[in-house]
Amino acid sequence: MTALLEVSNLSRVYEVRRGAWPFGRQATLHAVDGVSFELPAGRTLGLVGESGCGKTTTAKLVLGLVPVTGGEVRIGGESLPAAGTPSWRALRRRMQMVYQDPLGALDRRLSVGRQVMEPLAIHDIGKPAERLDKALAMLDAVGLAQHHFDRFPHELSGGQRQRIVLARALMLDPQLLVCDEPISALDVSIQAQVVNLLLALQQKLGLAYLFISHDLRMVRQVSHEVAVMYLGRIVEQGDPDRLFATPAHPYTQALVSAIPTHARAKRQRVVLPGEPPNPVDRPAGCAFHPRCRHATTRCRVEAPALRILADGRRAACHNAEQIA
Ligand code: SF4
Repeated sequence: MTALLEVSNLSRVYEVRRGAWPFGRQATLHAVDGVSFELPAGRTLGLVGESGCGKTTTAKLVLGLVPVTGGEVRIGGESLPAAGTPSWRALRRRMQMVYQDPLGALDRRLSVGRQVMEPLAIHDIGKPAERLDKALAMLDAVGLAQHHFDRFPHELSGGQRQRIVLARALMLDPQLLVCDEPISALDVSIQAQVVNLLLALQQKLGLAYLFISHDLRMVRQVSHEVAVMYLGRIVEQGDPDRLFATPAHPYTQALVSAIPTHARAKRQRVVLPGEPPNPVDRPAGCAFHPRCRHATTRCRVEAPALRILADGRRAACHNAEQIA
């Protein structure tokens, strides 16, 4: 399957100061470190991991919202140009972002209709009447009524606001939506509705989703492939059913064991000791070894490469076969 989005060896480094000024020293923080994946049209890649693991930075790098330090992003075979250039703006139309907080993503002073039509106005697409027609059709496509057109964001529920964010993102006919925690700010009862809407839109429009979420059950439900990130790197990637049933990386094991299930009593919870290390002080060898119950001497000195296992998934662990 040809990839719509190709991400190769992507990295983002920040120079930071450790300790209080003026005594602190300069240090390098690898927020994203050698991340690679492909995403075909009409498919969903779920990106999971603890806060600070690099998921959102990866999303911003993909969209060109943060300059890359190394690696490449290609969309439809074209390399992503430097942000702000006319060619970047043209390519950006094909990739839109859906944020976690719909109220924060919308302008409270503007009516729903104006905000939904705004992308067409910014890109100078169509006549006013055509923009109006398209906005009304888009409201209908996301399950809102025509009377919502003249309402303001604060007059609507969280689920309705997220539908407006989606309608606005779809006005430029994108091929890729980067969804950063798109349901986590919504009531549980509304989350399933928004996820069902995303799935229906994908089916109808052939959209590709880069879906970032803490909710592993939801990620499993929507994703065709899942990538697990730890300290800026992908540590396991593959088919969701296989990855969730028999995780090959101890970090994935711990994440999966924390998913609440009806059969929870039968599943042994893997509790990781300690906190994730400071990315500025990345442990030597396998960065996960201070928290890993399977760590060996080799793990403390040799960083495992992300390699393909016999079942087709990828894992960055020396002992992945035995663990899976
Ligand atoms: Fe654990 Fe070693 Fe695998 Fe790292 S390489 S996850 S320390 S077993």
